[in-house]
Amino acid sequence: MTFEQLGLTDELLQAVAEQGYTAPTPVQQQAIPLVLAGRDILAGAQTGTGKTASFTLPLLQRLAENHDPHQKPRRVRALILAPTRELAAQVYESVVAYGKFLPLHVEAVVGGASIGIQTRQLRRGCDIVVATPGRLIDHIKQRNINLSNIEILVLDEADRMLDMGFLPDVRQIMSLLPKQRQCLLFSATVPNAIKALAASVLTNPAEVEVAKQNATADNITECVYGINREYKRELLSYLIGSNNWKQVLVFVRTKHGADRLEKQLIEDGIRTVALHGDKTQGARNKALEYFKTGKVQALVATDIAARGLDIDELPHVVNFDVPQVPEDYIHRIGRTGRAGASGVAVSLVCPEEAWMLIEIEKLLKRQIPRIADTGYEPVSLKVMDAPKKNAPHKVTGKKDFRHTKKPANRAAKPTAGKPAAGKARKRP
Ligand code: AMP
Repeated sequence: MTFEQLGLTDELLQAVAEQGYTAPTPVQQQAIPLVLAGRDILAGAQTGTGKTASFTLPLLQRLAENHDPHQKPRRVRALILAPTRELAAQVYESVVAYGKFLPLHVEAVVGGASIGIQTRQLRRGCDIVVATPGRLIDHIKQRNINLSNIEILVLDEADRMLDMGFLPDVRQIMSLLPKQRQCLLFSATVPNAIKALAASVLTNPAEVEVAKQNATADNITECVYGINREYKRELLSYLIGSNNWKQVLVFVRTKHGADRLEKQLIEDGIRTVALHGDKTQGARNKALEYFKTGKVQALVATDIAARGLDIDELPHVVNFDVPQVPEDYIHRIGRTGRAGASGVAVSLVCPEEAWMLIEIEKLLKRQIPRIADTGYEPVSLKVMDAPKKNAPHKVTGKKDFRHTKKPANRAAKPTAGKPAAGKARKRP
């Protein structure tokens, strides 16, 4: 199948060719004709599948078909909502790149950037707005934007939008849109909450499903190192140094943890930068740029900050902390192995986290291969490290560990995890 066969116009075909895409990905093959035909869609597509182009290309084509060059100022005709600034920035860049040869104008409306500049840009008029919900609501309150001419709405990474508590904002925004409009809902996973949202905002939607739900891309090689917590940093430095990893995204649980690990890796001679929600937008952009251009080898990030990062062919992802929500494992490792490239995803799991690993494997319905020889004294990652049945911290039916206590019976003695004799890792 070619992009021509999907019915895209020459301007879009030229833009796609400039991006170096030779053939549409499965989600593009399915979604583009449906969107061009005016259908609402519910797409279960994880990041890395080419989902952004699958809604952006037909959206641009539909807007260009009825574009009125004499309309001054321009009216906002399409709205794309994304959960994080980074994702919104990337979608914005995609819209600019794919719409390069079309007379359409796009603005990004995200938090952390000057509201004054955004206000001026919105008042000048534009055809497409890419926004995070919170900042868009600020502009709505200040009457800087009129949503009554919206023809197409996209909810990107809707599952994450709900996870982040944006549902009331999304509902408020939806209430301001015309009843007659096309709506495209994209979500990495399709839990019941997304089905309920879809039922209330979509009309007779076509369903697009490209990867099996809760599956991870098969071009990613995954492995688990069982290691005591206190040696994780040493093992990570060793893995980066000895394998000469040039670009590795490291996930940690907390902002504080990100800052601490950044400092420690720098001490170990690894060029590192941290990315988390307490950093200013300027610092976040800089961190990302340094990482993309190879100025730093390691980007240490929290889940929220890393959401939506699109770094071409990112080869290595490390879970320094096991994700608190099993679904986040899929999101995290989806950072690598994108668009057909191969990737490696390594998880450093200490005995206290073993039960979270088991929850992840239950979700994946398979076991992640263990590395038998880690160079450190072996640690047990068996279920016995998970909370015992009827223990107060037992997680029943819930896959979110954030509000549960750590298992009481855990943690080897401080000396128990020392590197095995003769196998101590050298600093890279
Ligand atoms: P997304 O799932 O939208 O985040 O896209 C993931 C990556 O795939 C991005 O770097 C896109 O530039 C790239 N991409 C999108 N469509 C294609 C395609 N048809 N061929 C090759 N790469 C693509």
